[in-house]
Amino acid sequence: MMTVKEVAHAPLKKNEEKASYNIILLGPPGAGKGTQGQAISLKYGIPKISTGDILREAVVHKTPLGVQAKSFMDQGKLVSDEIVNGLVRERLSQPDCLKGFILDGFPRTVQQADTLRKMLEDFGLKIDAVISFDIGEQELISRLSGRRSCPKCKAVFHISFQPPKKSGICDGCGGALIQRDDDKEETIKHRLREYQEKTKPLLNYYEKSGLFHSLPGDGSIESVNKTVERILSKQKME
Ligand code: ADP
Ligand code: ADP
Ligand code: ZN
Repeated sequence: MMTVKEVAHAPLKKNEEKASYNIILLGPPGAGKGTQGQAISLKYGIPKISTGDILREAVVHKTPLGVQAKSFMDQGKLVSDEIVNGLVRERLSQPDCLKGFILDGFPRTVQQADTLRKMLEDFGLKIDAVISFDIGEQELISRLSGRRSCPKCKAVFHISFQPPKKSGICDGCGGALIQRDDDKEETIKHRLREYQEKTKPLLNYYEKSGLFHSLPGDGSIESVNKTVERILSKQKME
């Protein structure tokens, strides 16, 4: 089997287009990264990689890594860079990422961003767009406290802003929706503080890259989606 790097560098066959969008979604908890990421993932047929989802799976299965991560997540603190970087390296080396990927919730620290840069170099890949959702704290709190999540298919809903057809049931897979433990008010505050301290500096980091796009995240899901699509189609023309 060819390695990821070999596949990425394999000569393209005639008429074959290397269609790839490698996207980073940035923004505070509740900004809409998961919701918009899911929409892009469906539209372009590229995987959405959510480090939060990967970590929650590890917690459910009580893997050694999950056990280690759990207490941090419960407190609304970031899990160590070392753990998360390892998870992302493993995920990005899967062949489905060659047609593109959406990073949702990674990187979250400057150290993670530096590691990602090196990782992508190793794989012969590069980022096409960094899309950052700008939104106020009050809106984030109402979004997070009303969020309901499907542990089975990872779809997200909101009790008022995006209610499922049947209360408590996932539209996608029929699974029972839950409220995440860290979506309770006290933990939300910790997560927002972590964002301010550790993740916000990334905006400056990526602003210098020329790939950075910031948009208001507080419009409707549809209007934010239109803006995201506009950014991506413009990016593709360049
Ligand atoms: P949200 O999208 O609501 O911000 P996530 O599902 O992305 O939440 O993350 C949930 C929790 O998982 C975080 O509070 C943190 O503990 C952990 N986590 C997820 N991604 C990372 C990351 N890149 N670095 C460190 N911790 C992370
Ligand atoms: P993140 O992944 O950034 O933490 P999510 O995509 O999970 O954010 O969205 C957080 C909550 O807000 C979810 O309950 C979701 O249904 C809701 N939501 C997402 N985008 C919007 C929007 N544009 N307007 C209103 N609610 C939204
Ligand atoms: Zn589901």
